[in-house]
Amino acid sequence: MSFTYITKMPTPEEIKERFPVSKELAEIKAKRDKEINDIIAGRDNRFLMIVGPCSADNEDSVCEYINRLATVADKVKEKVYIVPRIYTNKPRTTGSGYKGIASQPDPTAKPDMVEGLIAVRKLHLRAMEETHLTSADEMLYPENWPYVDDLLSYVAIGARSVEDQHHRLVVSGFDVASGMKNPTSGDYAVMLNSVYAAQHGHHFSFAGSEVRTTGNPYAHTILRGAVSKHGNNTQNYHYEDLIRLSRMYEEMELINPACIVDVNHSNSNKQFKEQIRIVREVMHNRRYSDEIKSLVKGVMVESYLVEGNQPISENQVYGQSITDACLGWDDTEKLILEVAEML
Ligand code: PEP
Ligand code: MN
Repeated sequence: MSFTYITKMPTPEEIKERFPVSKELAEIKAKRDKEINDIIAGRDNRFLMIVGPCSADNEDSVCEYINRLATVADKVKEKVYIVPRIYTNKPRTTGSGYKGIASQPDPTAKPDMVEGLIAVRKLHLRAMEETHLTSADEMLYPENWPYVDDLLSYVAIGARSVEDQHHRLVVSGFDVASGMKNPTSGDYAVMLNSVYAAQHGHHFSFAGSEVRTTGNPYAHTILRGAVSKHGNNTQNYHYEDLIRLSRMYEEMELINPACIVDVNHSNSNKQFKEQIRIVREVMHNRRYSDEIKSLVKGVMVESYLVEGNQPISENQVYGQSITDACLGWDDTEKLILEVAEML
């Protein structure tokens, strides 16, 4: 046997019973889900900012960060809609390295999938309880959806998963806004085909059951830049890139054309401070072109308490990323206030 079966995972029902969402929080989440869906569909003109660390590696520092975010969110709430990024599972280019709190609740210790699942639920729940903000996460492992479907208000499908049929079909059953990233190759057709697949209903096997889905009208695109065949990062947040996406959307007759610009990753060439300039450029292009304004519904920013990143070690800097380098808190707060001014 090549697999060693270590332990049976708890069922979604068991986990939800142990860490339940209160009625009050469930109502807050339903309201936020609808507001975010309305923004994606153009029924609400607020600008989405999905902001937070590359990986949510520590419950205390992530919650401290989201508490700060909640204070700013309240100041700008008429114009900017803040969704915290709580990314609990990380895709890795070669498969090795830290895979998120879902796999390693303690980044310096061995993987523990049961404790990881508990850590994911506790983190999302605590953030909701303390701030009344519901979050975004990546759905790297689609079978995990039933464990978090009562917690998340936004889901992303990453650049390395977006071409995968199972991911696309599973998104077609989500009732929250779901961003399909461009693949690392940068191919828009792959990204738009995945939106098409997610917006239509399907019949397939999921988490041990035969299921049917209705299609997710709030599936949309996320531009994150690309890697060329020579290994260089190329950007896709410029005016021409956004217009091209808008025209391709028209040709495919998709519902609710919408795009979020991820300003880090290949768009910033992983130079985290460039995120500030890139957000400004996107805001400028929205002002300049109504076509871009109606397409670009928001930005995604990688940010944490302390700027930059660090290797994993026993004595880590509290609130600094252990995956992609992030903006620090002060720059983030300024950027959110600036975006509100530019709208
Ligand atoms: C991320 O959002 O941290 C991430 C890994 O994104 P991508 O899938 O675009 O590489
Ligand atoms: Mn990242």
